[in-house]
Amino acid sequence: MIKIAEPIIKKAEISAVTKVLQSGRLAQGPQVEKLEHEFSRLCRVKYAVAVSSGTSALFAGLYSLGLKPRDEVITTPFSFMAGVNAIILLGGRPVFIDIEEQTLNLDPAKIKPALTARTKAILAVNLYGQPADYQEINQIGRKYRLGVIEDAAQSIGAEYKKRPSGSLADLGCFSLYASKNITAGEGGMITTNQARLFQKAKRFSNQGLGLRKPYDYHQLGLNLRMTEMQAALALVQLKRLKKLTRKRQLISKEYNQSFSQIKGLIPPSLAPSRTHVYHQYTLRVTPAFKLSRDQLARFLAKKGIETRVHYPLPLHLYPHLKELGYKKGDFPMAEKVSQEVLSLPVHPLLKSQEVKYIIKTINKI
Ligand SMILES: *Cc1c(COP(=O)(O)O)cnc(C)c1O
Repeated sequence: MIKIAEPIIKKAEISAVTKVLQSGRLAQGPQVEKLEHEFSRLCRVKYAVAVSSGTSALFAGLYSLGLKPRDEVITTPFSFMAGVNAIILLGGRPVFIDIEEQTLNLDPAKIKPALTARTKAILAVNLYGQPADYQEINQIGRKYRLGVIEDAAQSIGAEYKKRPSGSLADLGCFSLYASKNITAGEGGMITTNQARLFQKAKRFSNQGLGLRKPYDYHQLGLNLRMTEMQAALALVQLKRLKKLTRKRQLISKEYNQSFSQIKGLIPPSLAPSRTHVYHQYTLRVTPAFKLSRDQLARFLAKKGIETRVHYPLPLHLYPHLKELGYKKGDFPMAEKVSQEVLSLPVHPLLKSQEVKYIIKTINKI
């Protein structure tokens, strides 16, 4: 089976983690500090806070923006659930707006009509590895004094107008989960240029403690800390990021050249002034194609090619969000594409014959 995602663990990773285990220092220490430093360099921001997951990063990020019960956060219904769960756990209310057809990211033109006196923030997601339209989003954010968060879980290394993901909003939130472009097994990172947000997020991730004395509680907090093993693993991975990203982009280019010729398939499309790091290579399988999306997925599985649907149901239609009052038909674009999307393997461990085999298998249909 050609897998949809595979972590790359080489001798360097094993040796780095082993060294940490032998050092006796397992919780926050020099590796975590170094990873934070490297992330702030990568994203060209002043500050970075390492945390235990991408979800932790979003939770701490939303808390740092001052999200209070009944505050509203405008966000996309076509994403992973983490950001929405974090909003609700803080007592806030996700307010969904529909997505743009080209990038499948939230449509900035739909933000203004969704604003109310309770709107506190905008949470944009860089879906599949392509940044959302931050010029438009930030303009609205500034005008109405809203915090803007970039869910960069899928977009490490991507750029928008020559600026790196992680620096595109007030806060960037990354994930280092096992299937992400680089991994720490589990892990996350918050990036920002604002000292106040940095301090709040840093404290929140560590029981609300101040940065100097012990038992110096300043605010609410949790334990969302990253371990030294995770940081050591991520540091090795980070060194390979450029190479791994280029590989994803090259595979995607081959896919695009072939699949754009096939009636009924819509390959991912890149909007102006941004780069795509292809955390997922996601096709739209429209009714004009020979097979339905699910038929194509089953066919490819039989041929030994694993695929995945990102995402099968828009967030507003999940049962635990019923109280928000949304219904089918509220976000036509998100609902339509959730029936059409299919992600193919695009990870850097794919061999060139495997890429050719995937292309040939789809072309045969
Ligand atoms: C993976 C992911 C997250 C959550 O990250 P975890 O590290 O799994 O908690 C959040 N948002 C998006 C868009 C993701 O892809």
